[in-house]
Amino acid sequence: MSLLSKTAAELADLLAAGETTSVALTQAYLDRIAEVDTHLHAFLHVDAEGALAQAAASDARRAAGELLSPLDGVPIAVKDVLATSGLPTTCGSKILEGWIPPYDATVVARLKAAGLPILGKTNMDEFAMGSSTEHSAYGPTRNPWDTDRIPGGSGGGSAAAIAASEAPLAIGTDTGGSIRQPGAVTGTVGVKPTYGGISRYGLVAMANSLDQAGPVTRSVLDAALLHEVIGGHDPKDSTSIDQPLPALVAAARQGASGDLTGVRIGVISELRGEGYQPGVEQRFDEAVALLTQAGAEVVEVSCPSFTHALAAYYLIMPSEASSNLARFDAMRYGLRVLPDGVADPSAEEVMRATRDAGFGDEVKRRIILGTYALSSGYYDAYYGQAQKVRTLISRDFEAAFAKADVLVSPTAPTTAFKIGEKLDDPLAMYLNDVATIPANLAGVPGISVPAGLAPEDGLPVGFQVLAPALADDRLYRVGAALEALLEKQWGGSLLSQVPEVTA
Ligand code: GLN
Repeated sequence: MSLLSKTAAELADLLAAGETTSVALTQAYLDRIAEVDTHLHAFLHVDAEGALAQAAASDARRAAGELLSPLDGVPIAVKDVLATSGLPTTCGSKILEGWIPPYDATVVARLKAAGLPILGKTNMDEFAMGSSTEHSAYGPTRNPWDTDRIPGGSGGGSAAAIAASEAPLAIGTDTGGSIRQPGAVTGTVGVKPTYGGISRYGLVAMANSLDQAGPVTRSVLDAALLHEVIGGHDPKDSTSIDQPLPALVAAARQGASGDLTGVRIGVISELRGEGYQPGVEQRFDEAVALLTQAGAEVVEVSCPSFTHALAAYYLIMPSEASSNLARFDAMRYGLRVLPDGVADPSAEEVMRATRDAGFGDEVKRRIILGTYALSSGYYDAYYGQAQKVRTLISRDFEAAFAKADVLVSPTAPTTAFKIGEKLDDPLAMYLNDVATIPANLAGVPGISVPAGLAPEDGLPVGFQVLAPALADDRLYRVGAALEALLEKQWGGSLLSQVPEVTA
């Protein structure tokens, strides 16, 4: 277990010192998956053979002195929304059951080019729609902190895999909070990079103007290391930013000193108060006090439009999704269902039967919502209006970043809730992303860092840091400082307190 509780940076050091091999490490994680994943269900697909072959190739490169990156040989898990050549990619949906992509997403290609063995694909809400991973067509993932509770969503599989030491690194995607909110409720670190900072090529689109892949890790430094592997310009994605990434690893190392002298931190007044669990606010306030002690200057900032962010998101996101999901037409990918009792079905009848059987309730709900919001006569009233709110949110960010270098809030309003608790109440489910969505609408980067356990239920609380677009390095500096200060209090990583998983 001791190997498995190390950060990726520590594992990279052990590999460099010759104290372990990539094959030994990869096997240890595969064994751990075999031990706990029948209960946790963080993985939809495990590729033991492929991962071990990649690990053996890494060990051979190390022997020859030809390493590809600082993380060469450290295994990783990938959310099942990224195309992996030769490995199933389902997006948590029945409609893609059996689909094996003929190509790698750029993020996956970069992991391979950096020498990281891929352990498998992680569970998620169907097409990344949800905040609990309960909308996966293959059944929910359980939170290792309390297996009767959700691990957040949509990327609950990646977050649970990290929290339960089934992988040292994972990739998530964040359209409205799906990296950061699972990070918060599992005590892991999650980063949504600046929009355009990580290629979306091969990321199955939910909402193109919001989707962004990013790291899910045990530590802030690990996230920076991984971000540098997967980030940067990609000519295959027209929205990819054509400029170098800031120095992320250097910023994380600088932050780890715990000195934030001269950094201005803005506490967003709209992202707290009503609807936020008292223990979440308490841990948040304590973290802000720590940052002040570290030399940061803390100011209150108001972003009035953020109160409309959730409403705008739930028009824009379904609108884009309704258009994206039209490609699942029973002709091109995965599932094809022939309608019952129809002798010579038309293409439209096959499409209808396939979508009826292949999409779950939440996906159907959003397709209907999005189609309605985009329809003639309603477009201006709903979609157009939401786009105006989006502009106001960007302006609020601009004004706030004139007063502060980074903005902070709780990542999620509550700790992990019980499996089943919000499943029949879509609005209650949507509210989990109230604090994460503004960043997606404006394209700015955000990180969630563990802030401790809520006193009332002993479950993890997340602290969110947001930075201006292209200033992702600030997330790592402030995040690493907070992590270092808190870990001094806790005597180590919060994840060392995860209970042993028992069925
Ligand atoms: N929970 C939000 C939703 O359901 C965000 C999902 C995401 O970021 N992929 O849309």
